[in-house]
Amino acid sequence: MSNIKAVKFGGSSLCDAQAIERAAKIVLSDETRRYITVSAPGKRFPGDEKITDLLYSCFRATYDEFMFLLEKIKARFDATIRDLGLRMSLDDDFSELIYGRRNYFGRDYFVSRGEFFCAKIVADYLGFDFIDASRCVCFDERGAFLPTETAAKTSRELSCSENAVIPGFYGSMPGGTIKTFARGGSDITGAIVAAAVGADVYENWTDVSGFMSADPKTVHEPKKIDVITYDELRRLSFMGANVLHEDAVLPLRQACIPVIIKNTLSPDEKGTRVVYKRTEVGADVCGIAGRGGFAILQVGKDRIGSGTEERKRILEILGRRGVGVSGIYSGIDCVAFAVEREGFSERADYIRNEISQYAEPRYVTLIPKCALISVVGAAPCKVLTKIFTAVSETGAKILCIDAGAGEEGVTIGVAEEKIQDVIRALYKRLIGETE
Ligand code: ASP
Repeated sequence: MSNIKAVKFGGSSLCDAQAIERAAKIVLSDETRRYITVSAPGKRFPGDEKITDLLYSCFRATYDEFMFLLEKIKARFDATIRDLGLRMSLDDDFSELIYGRRNYFGRDYFVSRGEFFCAKIVADYLGFDFIDASRCVCFDERGAFLPTETAAKTSRELSCSENAVIPGFYGSMPGGTIKTFARGGSDITGAIVAAAVGADVYENWTDVSGFMSADPKTVHEPKKIDVITYDELRRLSFMGANVLHEDAVLPLRQACIPVIIKNTLSPDEKGTRVVYKRTEVGADVCGIAGRGGFAILQVGKDRIGSGTEERKRILEILGRRGVGVSGIYSGIDCVAFAVEREGFSERADYIRNEISQYAEPRYVTLIPKCALISVVGAAPCKVLTKIFTAVSETGAKILCIDAGAGEEGVTIGVAEEKIQDVIRALYKRLIGETE
């Protein structure tokens, strides 16, 4: 046992000096909490702005607006530094931002400064080393993330430090240009750090007491999930459950590092444990999540279900047009593709034409507005009857179903306007009734 905890704090856990003090208390209460990844400061109250959002707006702004927004950002960091009683200053860094904006800084460099400044402050307050993520996290010249190089560089950099704070969200391309992950990507950095230092556990501190079994905006007071597997978490995150970035799971699953999602405001609560394999016998279903923004494209042709070549070509057509495919559902004479509507809708007719020309199908139909909903848990197959019953109670139709080809649960497609009703009905039947 290496006895190392890698810890990541989200933006709301570091939104101001008081929040940083709270986070620092958590870190210092356990000397095995040695490697800390931080997000940029988040919202301090409802309606407030996240530093990263401000940085994006600032980068796009005209010169006058730029100066106004940058002052606003600087004032927040300055207040945090002052309230924490630190002697450091970010004046030079901000002067460089003003100069660099006009001359050479790219957008990703600019927006990554939220994490960079926050990590400098937290490191100073804790008395830990500051290690810049640009020395650890690698992207290729086209901006694709390089996991193997990153793992090697991160462990090399961190092996020189007993205790360190690392900014999340970004890394660098060859030549040093800064590149960010997708939004919410500090979770990925935290996971990379956990794997690189061989941590026994990766603690992800947020402002909620773990992973909820459904979105509290849809279901009233959903039950908290105590234990979830990496695969299930990845599926729920992909479907919009917004606690841990779905790609953060990959390095952790590979290194079998358990994750604990905890609440900074309530550190004694148990949180949610993410594990490789479920060992304890629990409820059949642990979570439900869904999101709209999909369309379903159905292609009917004799024997197309077994025609791998045709399917491959259709996927090529969709890929060439930049359309994301989230599921493929195959019958004997029909194949359906659930596609992300963004990037597809405006080219739908064109793509349907292209498919018709190539495959000469009997039909290519489009269901334009769908939602996908996933039900995950220990034994989703046992609950199929309940799923069908719950959906039919809402009057919705199941447009497609993937009954767990992998380990991660059952996914159904329904008309987009039915998403809330179906999630509520599923929750009631599958989780609410088992409480
Ligand atoms: N600050 C970045 C964002 O707001 C990354 C993160 O917080 O994980 O998306």
